[in-house]
Amino acid sequence: MRKYVIMGVQGSGKGTQSTLLARDLDLAHISVGDIFRWHVQSHTKLGAQARRVMAAGELVGDDLVEKVVRDRLEQHDWNYGFIIDGFPRNRRQAEFFLESYDIDGVVHLDLPEEEVRRRVLARRLCARCGMDYNLIAHRPKESDRCDVCGGELVPREDDTPEALASRLRDYHDKTNPVLDLFRRKEYVVTVDARPEKVSVQREIRARLGLPPYEP
Ligand code: AMP
Repeated sequence: MRKYVIMGVQGSGKGTQSTLLARDLDLAHISVGDIFRWHVQSHTKLGAQARRVMAAGELVGDDLVEKVVRDRLEQHDWNYGFIIDGFPRNRRQAEFFLESYDIDGVVHLDLPEEEVRRRVLARRLCARCGMDYNLIAHRPKESDRCDVCGGELVPREDDTPEALASRLRDYHDKTNPVLDLFRRKEYVVTVDARPEKVSVQREIRARLGLPPYEP
């Protein structure tokens, strides 16, 4: 069983890299942001609690986040392990996590800030099926239409310049200390997130001592 955490600023490719890793290793890919977005789209009570905070690019309260993570991991659909993405984002969440789970590795995707801005502001999401696009790296065939379901492509509500600035501030103030904590435990492999996705995936596998990636 393998348990990984993936960390990195917005737009560093956490979702893409986690999906590639999870698919081959049969890991459950747990994206805390996706769980919250599902709640917002499905108009659940939890979605109502999180929506405003998310749209402003701020962090949802720790109690709510810990409940979501606990409930998700208690489903025990991860016989071969999991990769968790977007969590932990501050010291309290890291301590909560380490109390209950041991970790085999933390992948840190490193991306300079100018590149973060360029990527995030080009990001689009299908309003109907949730498929991700990027107007730089993964363009839809028809502009503003989903290749899979034909739904309308829209920016994520929190991908505005103002919300991005707030998320980057939180990342530096609150998430960097988590990386330091994990570094002290020698869990962290830092990977350059600038190359295209296949090279990044190959590097992650090599650094974690896993079999090479075959696209
Ligand atoms: P992401 O897709 O990881 O960028 O997450 C989208 C939004 O969900 C974040 O901007 C936060 O508002 C919320 N969120 C996701 N994960 C966490 C977390 N671990 N702690 C607090 N808020 C979170």
